[in-house]
Amino acid sequence: MNYLPIFIDITQKPCLVVGGGDIAYRKINLLLKANAQVICVAQACCEGITQLAKNNKITVIEKAFESSDIKSQMLIVSATNDRALNAQVSDLAKDANIPVNVVDSPDLCTFIMPSIVDRSPIVIAISSAGKAPVLARLIRAKLESTIPNAYGRLAELAGSFREQVKAKFNNIEDRRYFWEKAFSGVVAEKVFSGKVDEAKLDLQTQLDESSDSEMGEVYLVGGGPGDPDLLTFKALRLMQQADVILYDRLVSDEVMELVRRDAELIYVGKERDNHSVPQDGINQLLVDLAKQGRRVCRLKGGDPFIFGRGGEEIETLAENGVPFQVVPGITAASGCSTYSGIPLTHRDYSQSCRFVTGHLKDGSMNLPWSELAVEQQTIVFYMALKGAPHLSEQLQTHGMRGDMPVALVEKGTTPEHKVHTTTLTKLPDLVANETIHAPTLIIVGEVVKLREKLNWFDA
Ligand code: SAH
Repeated sequence: MNYLPIFIDITQKPCLVVGGGDIAYRKINLLLKANAQVICVAQACCEGITQLAKNNKITVIEKAFESSDIKSQMLIVSATNDRALNAQVSDLAKDANIPVNVVDSPDLCTFIMPSIVDRSPIVIAISSAGKAPVLARLIRAKLESTIPNAYGRLAELAGSFREQVKAKFNNIEDRRYFWEKAFSGVVAEKVFSGKVDEAKLDLQTQLDESSDSEMGEVYLVGGGPGDPDLLTFKALRLMQQADVILYDRLVSDEVMELVRRDAELIYVGKERDNHSVPQDGINQLLVDLAKQGRRVCRLKGGDPFIFGRGGEEIETLAENGVPFQVVPGITAASGCSTYSGIPLTHRDYSQSCRFVTGHLKDGSMNLPWSELAVEQQTIVFYMALKGAPHLSEQLQTHGMRGDMPVALVEKGTTPEHKVHTTTLTKLPDLVANETIHAPTLIIVGEVVKLREKLNWFDA
């Protein structure tokens, strides 16, 4: 961060603007919006500034700038077209430790003015540290169009209830929960549609009816295969709402970056053959946390219901009367194949697709091999890196041809995404001779060839 973003209270504080042109006029208007006491020093002023002075909104001193003008100011803005004068104002301000902004000269500034989205009392400031102001303005335009004006009214309403809510809930988490419900539910909807009085009544009712330490909730969320852009909106919303996040090894760092900043993070591991917290322990932890009134996000790689043991987790929740939601995610088969240029089905090459677990138990996989070893079908093996020689042998034993194309997708959809292509016969050698990192997905089928045909290069 090049600059520290802060919001300063300048109500009735003297702020000096040097210069009387249109740019100075714009800055003055901004300072007035924040209720500053503006003093403008300029030899000549534009119409707008003269008008403001006439209406007693600001004080104009029509004279050349002198060093004594800077004393006891809270902020100084220099907006003249005289670079030497701007530099002089900047030096004097710096000597006196008064924050100074010189329009369009970042080197002379000790503070910069961001692009603003104003939904007062909500104000969003965007800065590119002077490096790309046009980009900052584009971002601003995007935010302008996505944040309804009524957010300001919603914040006003919240402000008028703040003390009451504080008095009702001792605990910060209960307070946060109350507000999050209000801001994403019917109260917000009513404010957005202009029914502020009704929203006020609803908020009062919600406050009167809620009690301390209610039962929490569990969100079983699919975090996708790695690329954070593959998260669903719902996953993101719940990840940012939860007080506690239980995550395991398959959830990528980039996805973890997006959870609520102050959420408690609990790693529950799950490396092959080394379960940091056993499944029963995870199930119980979810129940215990929810019973403490916390909103818990159980974040899983891919989809929670595809080889994710999500079913077992919600079974325990249901038995214990804990409310829950399940959010599907993009499963590894889908993410890894798509990012590798391999369509899982294709009119000409594959009319069905099977997702199977390649987890070895006592050295073998309990799979219906004769159903798998057929043409015109794609098989996706999860958890099969260690069992690759076994699956190669079994498929061939059950009649699959040895030159059937195979792809191994390593760390799919992440920046380290890598694809190795081979054939069924050569698969054991590939796994033995190359360093392949987990997680890895194995795709068997004619569709693997399409990668070359599509001339696919991994991004
Ligand atoms: N619920 C997950 C799967 C969990 S099983 C899902 O829907 O994707 C774990 C296996 O998924 C790994 O052994 C690996 O085979 C596969 N896997 C998960 N993420 C992967 C990734 N980014 N790249 C390759 N394989 C992945």
